Amino acid sequence: MYLWFPSDRPRERPTEQVRSDGPAVLIGAGHGYYYHHGYKDWRPQREIYNGILEDEITTQYATMLYGKLLPHNISAGWIREARFAGHQPSGQPYHMVAARYQIADKLPERPDIWHSLPDSSDSLRERDEDIRSRPLYANEVGAGALVHIHTNASDNPSARGTRVFHHMASAESSRLGSMILCYMRESIHSLDQYKDFPIDSASTPGNHGENRLAAMPSVIVEVGFHTNAEDAAALKDIFFMGHSMAGVAKGYRLFEAGEKCLPLKIDAPVRAEGMVDDNVVIPVSAQGFPDFPLAIQASRKNCARRCAVDYELADNPDEMAEIKLAYRCDEARVELIELTARDFSGVEAEPIEVSITCHPKPEP
Ligand SMILES: [Zn+2]
Repeated sequence: MYLWFPSDRPRERPTEQVRSDGPAVLIGAGHGYYYHHGYKDWRPQREIYNGILEDEITTQYATMLYGKLLPHNISAGWIREARFAGHQPSGQPYHMVAARYQIADKLPERPDIWHSLPDSSDSLRERDEDIRSRPLYANEVGAGALVHIHTNASDNPSARGTRVFHHMASAESSRLGSMILCYMRESIHSLDQYKDFPIDSASTPGNHGENRLAAMPSVIVEVGFHTNAEDAAALKDIFFMGHSMAGVAKGYRLFEAGEKCLPLKIDAPVRAEGMVDDNVVIPVSAQGFPDFPLAIQASRKNCARRCAVDYELADNPDEMAEIKLAYRCDEARVELIELTARDFSGVEAEPIEVSITCHPKPEP
């Protein structure tokens, strides 16, 4: 969920910046407690649905994303960070307060970043300043990219799935958003129970303050709808959390490398043949950007036990381009073989089938 600031609309998006002395990726966990000037209390920006408080779960997703970027030596930073101390005067744990207050602690001399609406008398002004403070802070620290993590909400409880938003004037943000969706799909769909989880095919243009005020590629990742029971169950599942954020990390990494959307895929001839006692070779090629080693297995289809017939590991792109598995013909018949591929991160290719015909040996 996000806010629009109609008064900002005529303003242009800042020019994409060239400085890169900040973190490569700044992660912004959505929302957090803020001071409401009407009710005169501290409250979260969202309500609890299906057991999820968006203000809280986004901090878990942000932490997971941080952990998925580090093994690739990507310097990440976050806007709402965890600290052992609590936050005064809200009385909340530090990670639960909105970015605006954390930034005020870090940069007290820069109210232009965290108190950017000084003339507003709106009850929600600190919440509005919170949204604006995130891109303004990213600009200040010279972040290379900005990724906002949210969960979505709708009045329609059947609305569900993963969406990503970028600012309409930023082609680079659009590319980043679509790369993130591509690899979230690859990663989430590798989990059997989420293989049909709806994920948008392309990033959606918008005019959200969080993206518009950013001088670097910036996207809002709406991981799923907390207002939908099925999505909410997924959002609370640690495996879904891990795979979805691994997808975001990979999407960012390949965006940065200038690559395209190329999910893991294997290919092989649909038919092969040999004679009894032959080792029939099945040439397999794979494409994509797996986390090596990539394991490719051939198994008998429609078989309950002892189904694997061969197995290979590819350790690099060259090996992955040309894999040879073998099937030994033990009698004259047609055998249906299923080929599967799985990388070190648990990303799986769509299985494919090869029909192998074993001919009888000619009489001597
Ligand atoms: Zn939100």
